Amino acid sequence: MEKRGRILTGDRPTGKLHLGHYVGSLANRVRLQDEYDCYFIIADYHVLTTAYERPASIGDSVRDLVLDYLSVGIDPDRSTIYLQSLVPEVCELFLLFGMLVSVPRLQRVPTLKDVIRDLQLDSASYGLLGYPVLQAADITMVRAHLVPVGKDQSSHLEVTRELARRFNELYGEVFPVPETLIGEVPTLVGTNGKSKMSKSLNNAILLTDDASALRQKVMGMYTDPTRLRATDPGHVEGNPVFDYHEAFNDRSDEVAELKERYRAGRVGDVEVKRSLVDALERFLAPVRARRAEYEGRPHLVDDVIQVGSRRAQGEARETLRLVREAMGLTYYSSRRFEHGQC
Ligand code: ATP
Ligand code: MG
Repeated sequence: MEKRGRILTGDRPTGKLHLGHYVGSLANRVRLQDEYDCYFIIADYHVLTTAYERPASIGDSVRDLVLDYLSVGIDPDRSTIYLQSLVPEVCELFLLFGMLVSVPRLQRVPTLKDVIRDLQLDSASYGLLGYPVLQAADITMVRAHLVPVGKDQSSHLEVTRELARRFNELYGEVFPVPETLIGEVPTLVGTNGKSKMSKSLNNAILLTDDASALRQKVMGMYTDPTRLRATDPGHVEGNPVFDYHEAFNDRSDEVAELKERYRAGRVGDVEVKRSLVDALERFLAPVRARRAEYEGRPHLVDDVIQVGSRRAQGEARETLRLVREAMGLTYYSSRRFEHGQC
């Protein structure tokens, strides 16, 4: 099949993936694997922007992430899964991009303020401020056209687009200006109904949760606080239990019927939640089974990372060659090496 372009997206290896990651980005990745030439980055340098104390502990999360990818159907034979730090060429592009963006521009990125607040930092490190610049370098390093991410990432993608445009204006067309592709559910709310699903906020259902953890989390979910009895008319909109039904229940008739009865006060929260447990179980059981199968193959994860990183590095080197040529950063090699002065 003729490919429509390249995709780059990925995750920081900070733990196991959850349903929010799935609807925000993973589902699009799995769906677009044949249409696009896909690169999925495991962004371990990015972890250091907020957790630099014990880098060695990132290794386990790298393995978890690869297994999560494989278990939802990312296919390493069709897509490239690679580890950021095995392609250190990205650091050069990161440095060059650092010259093309102002400090106040980066200070305005909303996620920076969120991280400073959530982690109770006094101020941002130089590296944390540069988070979206490193991300821009990742994306442009493989000259990607499309970036499937959750809605919270759109402000970062704006920085990437600005940097790609600025570089092209100054030095000539090297980079496509990538489009953002937001998932079908732009932001999945957490089980507590308060904010987006996030493992750090303890409101996440993990792709690896077993049947009993799943049941416990769903049965404890926040629903419609205005409803005291099952006979009270309930609110479906803004009710996370129904958001999840909408996103994950493959039986749309059942969802429509439950919504109707809920609005009319003819069904209790327990029944709605039980049917959500069943729906999520239908979705997660095959994911778990695939994961178990891959976990049993000892060298698989290492092989996937090695093969993918080598492939990504080839692309990165080619991009750097184009970048240096466009910028005229070739004086040394052309004058000295070519004339045999070294
Ligand atoms: P977490 O936010 O759970 O601590 P993280 O910060 O390591 O995880 P992110 O970088 O926030 O991971 O997420 C990786 C991808 O998943 C991004 O594309 C992001 O937009 C998407 N994503 C994460 N959480 C959600 C959510 N609740 N709803 C939709 N998309 C999400
Ligand atoms: Mg996050």
